[in-house]
Amino acid sequence: MGAAAGGQNACIFCRIIDRSAASTIVYEDAENLAFLDLFPVTRGHLLIVPKLHVDRLVDLPESAYEGLFKAIATVCRRVEGLSTHYNVSMNQGELAGQIVFHLHVHVIPRYGEGTPQWSRPRERLREEDAAQLSALLRAS
Ligand code: 5GP
Ligand code: ZN
Repeated sequence: MGAAAGGQNACIFCRIIDRSAASTIVYEDAENLAFLDLFPVTRGHLLIVPKLHVDRLVDLPESAYEGLFKAIATVCRRVEGLSTHYNVSMNQGELAGQIVFHLHVHVIPRYGEGTPQWSRPRERLREEDAAQLSALLRAS
């Protein structure tokens, strides 16, 4: 389903997918596209998106998982020509920094610039919190 079929005319990534918006495309298969981020955190920062418009990972049909993961790995192999150090990440929801609500995977090459992420001081996981979280997250 493309931009028109999905009625996602306002979605910038759907517009990149159907070529009505410009981007620098670096990978494409039948279901996925990868293009350079317009405001790169580092040189070579790129985004991999399923062509199907879904807001976030939990909305993606399982039938798309394998293809998307293969696309990510293929693009990562190419990124290793720039640097063998890189972050592969997804922001899910506004509070996590998601700005574009079309599922996308960031690949951000690292070249030794500062602390790449998780720069806040971290406390060790507390036993009681681990038990609570385990009860919450393990069960389906
Ligand atoms: P988010 O914060 O939603 O995880 O990431 C969205 C990313 O999309 C940002 O890194 C931002 O720079 C990038 N971006 C936003 N608009 C455009 C655009 O029009 N073209 C491209 N190539 N990237 C975009
Ligand atoms: Zn979209």
